[in-house]
Amino acid sequence: MLGLQSASAFIILYGYPRGRTMSELHIPDSFRGRPYAERHFRAIAEWAAAHSPFYRRTLAGGGLPPLLTREILQAHNDELLDGRPVTGKTSGATSVPVRVHWDPARGALDTRDNLAYAGWFGGVLPNARIVALSAHEKKPDTFEVASPVGDQLEFLRGRIERHGMRSLISYPTNLVQLAAHLLDAGRTVPELHRIVCMSELFEPGQEAVIRRAFPNARIAATYSCTEVGMVAGRCPHNPDNYHLMAHKLGVEFLRADGTPCAEGEVGQVVLTDYHNRAMPFIRYAIGDLAAPVRCDCGKIELPALTRLLGKQRGLLRHPGGGFVFSTELSPHIRDSPEIRQYQVVQRTPTDFTLRAIARDGADAGAFEARMRDLFVRHFGPAAAVEFDWCADIPRLPGGKYMEFIGLKEAA
Ligand SMILES: [Zn+2]
Repeated sequence: MLGLQSASAFIILYGYPRGRTMSELHIPDSFRGRPYAERHFRAIAEWAAAHSPFYRRTLAGGGLPPLLTREILQAHNDELLDGRPVTGKTSGATSVPVRVHWDPARGALDTRDNLAYAGWFGGVLPNARIVALSAHEKKPDTFEVASPVGDQLEFLRGRIERHGMRSLISYPTNLVQLAAHLLDAGRTVPELHRIVCMSELFEPGQEAVIRRAFPNARIAATYSCTEVGMVAGRCPHNPDNYHLMAHKLGVEFLRADGTPCAEGEVGQVVLTDYHNRAMPFIRYAIGDLAAPVRCDCGKIELPALTRLLGKQRGLLRHPGGGFVFSTELSPHIRDSPEIRQYQVVQRTPTDFTLRAIARDGADAGAFEARMRDLFVRHFGPAAAVEFDWCADIPRLPGGKYMEFIGLKEAA
């Protein structure tokens, strides 16, 4: 009988013997006992090991496929693309953008997922989008997110009156701005029946103000990324949960030691795309955190996640070595009456820059004192905050707005 070592040496020298291809591939523990996930994970991993130069190398030894971290992806992006054209690119908030290839069939799959998600809310409504036109096609129902809020509201009014628009799709941070502007002027937009939050982490604190300004709208939100498309959609019946696109993606939630999280336990989100054979993503550790959960809505069969926390989008480092979630700070900053908009940049574990756009007549001193106190409470007595009062805080090229920029790779 061959020992493990000589078996691996045999495989390295001669490749897998016929009929034994990838026989030593291990299925992640999260998928065991789940025949659909097991079958699809095995199929894409075997395909990748046979056809992708990157995976031919990394999966050659069999075993459990290693995690594809963002750094590994960035370092081997060309090898993973394998000469295929770039069809999508991440915004590269704090690092090099990731370049992605999808073939048309993979793109169509995501279009279907988005339509199916609208179906959970009762079907597609006449809609308009306020997004970054650098990343989206310019169309009459699409408006540039960097435009002044007044222009955006005029566009909405026009679409509602002349085109019967009932649904608005934009980024949560922009929807908050629109809502705050409307409420400041004592106005609401009752005509909208649906708001769809896309791209950014969507927090409960943002929801309250959006709800007040758009009183008749149900709020939908998607968790998606350029690399694998829509990962999950917020449950219309139980807003704490997001149902996973489990037909398309294998989703793992892992502890720091690599074992699967228990229900309700936050861990790193790891994604396997069952259908992108042109540029396979196998066990991609995207850098977000969430907990698996069973949604008890009884209406949607798909598994779910909850407590979604964007890591690149806001996990801050504590000087003691742990982490502080941006969601612990954001409500205290966002709800400050002195400011319209803000952004926190962590420069070292104890040094922060807080950019803020002041409201007219704001008491800057009171805001600064409260914020210093807030950061000391969360980061210890050495925490120092530098304030940058500015007129504009730009979005990233892809349209995303970062309220928090943590230290690079907090992993
Ligand atoms: Zn549900």
